[in-house]
Order: sequence, then structure tokens, then C-alpha cells
Amino acid sequence: MVRFNYMSNFQIIKRLYTNYTKKYLKNILISVFFSVLLAGSTSSIAYLLDPAINELFIKQSNTLVYIIPAFIVLAFALKGMSLYFAKIIMINVAEEVRRDIQTDMFSSLIHADTQLIDKEHSGKFITNLSNDVNMITGLLSTAILNLFKDSLTLIGLLTVMFYQNWKLSLIAIIMIPLASFAAKSLGKRISKVSTQQMQRAAILTSYLIEIFKNHKLMKIFQKEKYEKTRANEFIHNLKELNKKINIVYVRASPIMEFLTGIMIAILIFISAKLVVKNELEVNNFFSFLAAMMLAYQPVRSLATLNITVQQGIAGARRVLPIIDKEHEIKEKNDAKDLSISEGQITFENVKFKYLKDNNEILNSINLNIPAGQMTALVGHSGAGKSTILNLIPRFYDVGSGDIKIDNQSIYDAKIYSLREKISLVSQDTTLFDDTIKNNILYANSDASDEEIYNAAKYSFADEFINQLPNKFDTLIGENGVRLSGGEKQRISIARAILKKTPIILLDEATSSLDADTESKIQEAINFLTKGRTTIVIAHRLSTILNSDKIYVINQGKVVGEGKHDELLSSSDIYKNFYEKQIKRS
Ligand code: ADP
Repeated sequence: MVRFNYMSNFQIIKRLYTNYTKKYLKNILISVFFSVLLAGSTSSIAYLLDPAINELFIKQSNTLVYIIPAFIVLAFALKGMSLYFAKIIMINVAEEVRRDIQTDMFSSLIHADTQLIDKEHSGKFITNLSNDVNMITGLLSTAILNLFKDSLTLIGLLTVMFYQNWKLSLIAIIMIPLASFAAKSLGKRISKVSTQQMQRAAILTSYLIEIFKNHKLMKIFQKEKYEKTRANEFIHNLKELNKKINIVYVRASPIMEFLTGIMIAILIFISAKLVVKNELEVNNFFSFLAAMMLAYQPVRSLATLNITVQQGIAGARRVLPIIDKEHEIKEKNDAKDLSISEGQITFENVKFKYLKDNNEILNSINLNIPAGQMTALVGHSGAGKSTILNLIPRFYDVGSGDIKIDNQSIYDAKIYSLREKISLVSQDTTLFDDTIKNNILYANSDASDEEIYNAAKYSFADEFINQLPNKFDTLIGENGVRLSGGEKQRISIARAILKKTPIILLDEATSSLDADTESKIQEAINFLTKGRTTIVIAHRLSTILNSDKIYVINQGKVVGEGKHDELLSSSDIYKNFYEKQIKRS
């Protein structure tokens, strides 16, 4: 990440060019061609005032009275058309680039390490994907477009000015930087404020996500007023920043208008002197003046170009590191497919800590999980049980030590081949906004209808699915039917049944269900785990008693191991834990 802070603006632009813009070079060149036409037509409008005044007003020509106005119409039509095409083409390029960057960002995030996703608020990524990418596309579309169209137009208009009178032109050129100076100095301020604005917008997005996720919590604690105050503060801060940015933008106008006024006044004064000295004709003066006035817009636009560029670069500084983020969870170059014959899992002196803090969460854990049997992890909350589970599919990597499956280190195996062999049934089952069928299919998109029905049957999910209006085609999730906790768990078991893996990681639900559902889920789990290596974070007494082996985990260490009866006599912590469970049930 840090690397990007040391990347110069030029390097960032180069990177954006080679990765995202180069392939649209042809379209950009076509847009530049239309910018040339635009410059030509704009300049010819200014130029045409010269013959118009000379031929029509001074010489009063009868033939040209039709031709010159016709040319003026033509020039304006050409100007409008070329501006339209130059813009449209660049808008298309920008949208293509937006898609490319967003696709890259998404594919980087989807493969991102769990640690990274844990660390950042999802709102930040959403803002990166929308607002920051917006700024980058602004840099590519607006900045590239304006750079060409305005500088070419300016060159054209300057040519007309010099053609009409070089002395006046020189004076004007000396004064132009004066006028643009004001706008330029604002660029830096705007880019600073807009970075702040992006950060605040990200905070607001994160906040909104939290509010929607936890709205029940907010209601039950009656925190509406409190949250309103907090939200008002965020919104107010954002408003202040937005105001600041817009004021800085607009502040350029009166200053520029005033400076332009002074400039034109000086030029008129000098022109009058030149006319008296016979060094300037009226027709030349008007054409010159028109060119100079038409030059006002491109000069101003070029002077503020810096703002768009700075904003785009700032956006790229936030987005590119996400795209380039190297994964910590990597597989070795010579990684092999994991082959499972038995499914025995061993932890050898595993130590682990989360990136965020320095505490050793797992401290020299040694486990020997027998193949094809059920092993329970018990212990108080925060003991490290979920962390142990999460290490097996390599959501996180161990700090030191090794994890082996059938004597092969999981770190020598291809990640895909490892995860392919593991099912995870967790207590908070996430369902997607999709049909029941597709939600089960998520585990194995190649499964046949029969396999899906069987998975539903053995997980006892078919009972409630068949009562839904469209059965397996019923929409569930946010936009569809809401399922109960027990129903969700059964869908999650159906997924695992469909995945048919030799290893099952089970995070047993802590919430209690009615006796009927409970026993059905128990049966479904029995079916799922039969003959497969299962590690369960056990909360229910029945599960603990049914397990072939139990590990007692306390403060990141194994403090007991064996069967229930053995542990009752050998481990005080276990005994304590067991007695509490009895009381609960
Ligand atoms: P258990 O499953 O036994 O309740 P966990 O494995 O969830 O315990 O947690 C063990 C410790 O690790 C706790 O102190 C917890 O605060 C910490 N922890 C869990 N997940 C994370 C995470 N993603 N980042 C940082 N610390 C974590």
C-alpha cells in the first residue's frame, strides 16, 4: 500500500494509461480529430467577422451578403457537431474504463485475504468502487477531452488573433496568464478538500450500512434520536465540505470576469490608439476581439484542468492499491492437489495471531483429528475455537507450525483443491437474493435436479420448501420469502450435503430451536457427517456426548483431550463447562 504514496503523479497517470486507456487509443484519436474540427470551426467564426465587416459593412458587397452568413451558420453547425462527437466518444471511453477498473477492483476484492476484508469497513470499499472510480473516469474523460479540445481551440484562436494584429496579440498573451493564475491557484485547494470529502463520504456510507444492518438493535435501545444526531453530524460535515469545494470553484468566476474586463478595456484602449495611427483596421479589431473572447473559455478550462487531474490522481491512489494488493494467502509455485484418502487432520504446534493485534490467539496448538469421525471443540467463548476452524480452509494462515491433512501440509496444496474438500456449516447462514434452488446449488452448480431434491430431503429442508408458493423456485433473501433460523440452517446443511466433501467444519448454532426442528437438524447433521471427518464447535450437550473425541480449548491452548468420561475426571475446565451445559439444558 505504502508504495503508492511514493508513486509520483506522473507514474500514476502512466499506469492508468498503460492499464486502462491505451486500448482505447483509437477512439481517443477520433475524439482528438473532432477536437481539431472544433478548433477549426471556432476559429473560423472569429475569423469570419473580418470579411463580414470588411465586405458587408465597409465595401457593402452584394454577392457576399449571402455567402458570409451561410459560412457562419456552417461554422456554428460544425462547431456543435464536432463538440458533440468529441464528447460522446470520450464519454464512451470513460464508461469502458470505469467498467474495466471496477471489474479489476471486484476481482481483487473477491480474492482478497479475509484479514483485509476483516480490517476495513465494507463502506470504504463501496466508496472506492463508486466515488473514487468516478474521479478516475473524470480524469480520463473530462481531462483528456478538455486538454485536446481547449488547447487546440486556443491555438486556432491565437492564430486568428496573430493574423489580425500581432501587437495586440502579444499584449493579450502577456495578460492571459494573469487571468488564469487565479483559477490555477485554486486547484490545489480543491484537491485537498475533495480528498477530505471522499473520506467523509466513505464514513457516511459505512455508517449507513451499519444502521440498516442493526436497525432492530437501534430500535430496541431507542437510539433513534442519538443516531439522528450522529447522522446529522456526518451529513453536516459533508455539506460543509461540498459547500467549500463549490465555493472554491465558483470563486474563480468573479475574479476571472474582473480580470477579463480589465484586459479587454486595456486592449480597447490600445486598439483605439492603433486605429488612430492607422496601424489597425476596424474589421481586424473585431475579428481579433471575437477570437480573444472566444479564447476565454478554453483558457479558463485549461487553467482548472489541474483540479480534475488532481482529483483523478487522488482517486487512483486509493483504488490502485486495492487492485494491486498482493495476497498474503498464496499457494506455492509447486503446489500439488490435495489428495484425501482417510481425512485425518493434524495441527502441529500451531501459533496464530490476527494482524490487528499482537496477542497470540492460538499458542502451540496440537490436534489430532481422527479421520471419518466427529471431533468436538469445547471451551468458553473467545477461547479460539472459530479461529482453529478458520485456519483449515486457509481463511487465515498460521504464524508458525503446520496443519496437515493425511500427512500433507495444507500449505503445499493448491488452495482450490483444499477448499474443494471442505464444507463449512456455520451458525449464521447467509442466503442470497435468489431462489431456494439456486441457493442450494451455490454449493455445486453442476448438481442435477435429483441431487438437489435429495440434498433437501436429507437435510429435512424439503418439508418447508414444499409448502412455499413456488417450492424450489421461491425467491428468498432480502427481496423474497424470509426463512426462519432453523430453515436457514437446513438450507445450509443441504448445501453441504450437495458438496459431498470428506471434511466438514461445523459451527453449531447457539440459538435454541423448538424440539422438533432441533431433532430434525440433528438428524440432518448426522446424515451429513456420517463417515466424514467432522470438527464441530459444540454448544449442545447432545453433540458433545455424541462426539468421538473432544478437545477442550482455553485461552488459545489445548487444556484437555479425550472422551467425555475421561475428561470429566481429568479436566476441571471441562467439568465446569459440562456442569454449566447441564444447567442450561
Ligand atoms: P471462539 O470461537 O472460541 O469463541 P474465536 O476464535 O472467535 O473464539 O476468538 C478468539 C480470539 O480471537 C478472541 O479474543 C477474539 O476477540 C479474537 N478474534 C476473533 N476473530 C478476530 C478477527 N477477525 N480479528 C481480530 N481478532 C479476532
